[in-house]
Amino acid sequence: MSFPKTGLAEKDILTHLEANKSGDIPWQSGKTFAYTYDAGPEAMSIVHKAFDSYLTENALDPTAFPSILNLENEVIGMAAELMHGDENCAGTMTSGGTESILLMMKAVRDYNREHRPHIKEPEVILPSTAHPAFHKGCHYFDLKVVPVTVETDSYTPDPANIEKAITDNTVLIVGSTPSYAHCVVDPIIEMAAIAQSHNIFFHVDACVGGFYLPFVEMLGYPLAHFDFRVPGVTSISMDIHKFGYAAKGASIILYKHKDLRKYQIYGCARYPGYVVVNPTITSSKGGGPVAAAWAVMKFLGQDGYKKIVAETKAASEKLINGVNDIAGLKVLGQPAMNMISIAADSANVFSLIELMKTKGWHLQAQFENVNSPSNMHLTVCRNNIPQIDQLLQDLAESVRLIDSGEIKKVGTENIPKEFLHLLENLTPETFEQVTAMFGAGGNDDDGDLTEHMGEINTMLNQLSPPAREKLLIEFLSKLYSAQ
Ligand SMILES: *Cc1c(COP(=O)(O)O)cnc(C)c1O
Repeated sequence: MSFPKTGLAEKDILTHLEANKSGDIPWQSGKTFAYTYDAGPEAMSIVHKAFDSYLTENALDPTAFPSILNLENEVIGMAAELMHGDENCAGTMTSGGTESILLMMKAVRDYNREHRPHIKEPEVILPSTAHPAFHKGCHYFDLKVVPVTVETDSYTPDPANIEKAITDNTVLIVGSTPSYAHCVVDPIIEMAAIAQSHNIFFHVDACVGGFYLPFVEMLGYPLAHFDFRVPGVTSISMDIHKFGYAAKGASIILYKHKDLRKYQIYGCARYPGYVVVNPTITSSKGGGPVAAAWAVMKFLGQDGYKKIVAETKAASEKLINGVNDIAGLKVLGQPAMNMISIAADSANVFSLIELMKTKGWHLQAQFENVNSPSNMHLTVCRNNIPQIDQLLQDLAESVRLIDSGEIKKVGTENIPKEFLHLLENLTPETFEQVTAMFGAGGNDDDGDLTEHMGEINTMLNQLSPPAREKLLIEFLSKLYSAQ
């Protein structure tokens, strides 16, 4: 594809775009258990129309387009109500969970710079299950990560270990409701109490749970409070583009008190052009994600969300029980909602994912880390529900095929020590050798790599996290190459 000298016809362009998707995972099949969040065709249609109706408006200047400001304030109001914020609660719509988290971390850092200037090297306490977005925030804003390993089996931090990690430099503690990796909810009440007693900000990462867990509670499942009802919780992130079912590009950062949000806002008037004052990292931004989020929340209403939660939660329980009945498979932790992580005793989990892929299933690989074994992650959406029985049947059959040796399993024995050593000490040259080995030497055949994911994941799983990071950065850099 090159830049055409004269424009193409609309029909040809749209045909190309549709055909271009042919290599994507078929999320509509109900056999994909990650990446997309589905509330059904009617909700999807509203999201489309609302997004389209605000395609051109610019949220850069809320005084020029007060209509987007109104929609955003209303979305924030609905979210604050769901999280039991009071009249001091304030928030911002952002482009995603990562931006929500980054903004909160910047606000916390800048608040501390002003109010606790003696802190020269601010520290953030992160349980090992905290999302990478917090590591990214520490990386971007020069904050120090103080890791706390979660407990074996529960995959949640022991509050006593959180307290032990506090120093005079601690500015922030983070808890997840739930963590993405194992879908377990951290002991928020205890962690927030510790943070409060030391006068430290406490963030609840409800990116994936913010639009799900409140309805779990409303349905009567036992669930400890995790929102602004809990003393000590100072901010909450919640993504509308996950189980809020909005178009991608929609998340919320909420603060218990608007005073902290002020430190998130950036203004620049030392420039001969227009004055910049932004609550978010992005400056010019579309009204589409705001309008779509507002529309889907109004369309579904609390009852609509509750209904989807009831259905997907029941299907998840059926999946959990079914998996635990398969010899050799085990659900990790106690999932609080509709995501489950499954480890395999003897079958290499990455071989299992590959074998399942040949049967049309798309399951997400998660690497071994600290005390969490390698596993596969499944998110159960509405469109996955009719597929659960078949999924369980195929899982059982695949485990049997791998364990019996009828299907070759990719294992430790296949990866020479010298090769792993090479990867641990990666250079751009060795990276070229590696990609050549997997048949992805040129930019034109990188599709081949996906046929080797079982081996590649098995290999990555045996590397140290820094080596994995280096390798994946090289890989991504190669992937995004102009044609
Ligand atoms: C998805 C997720 C994030 C990051 O959200 P993005 O929208 O992908 O930036 C952060 N925390 C948790 C728990 C998540 O599930």
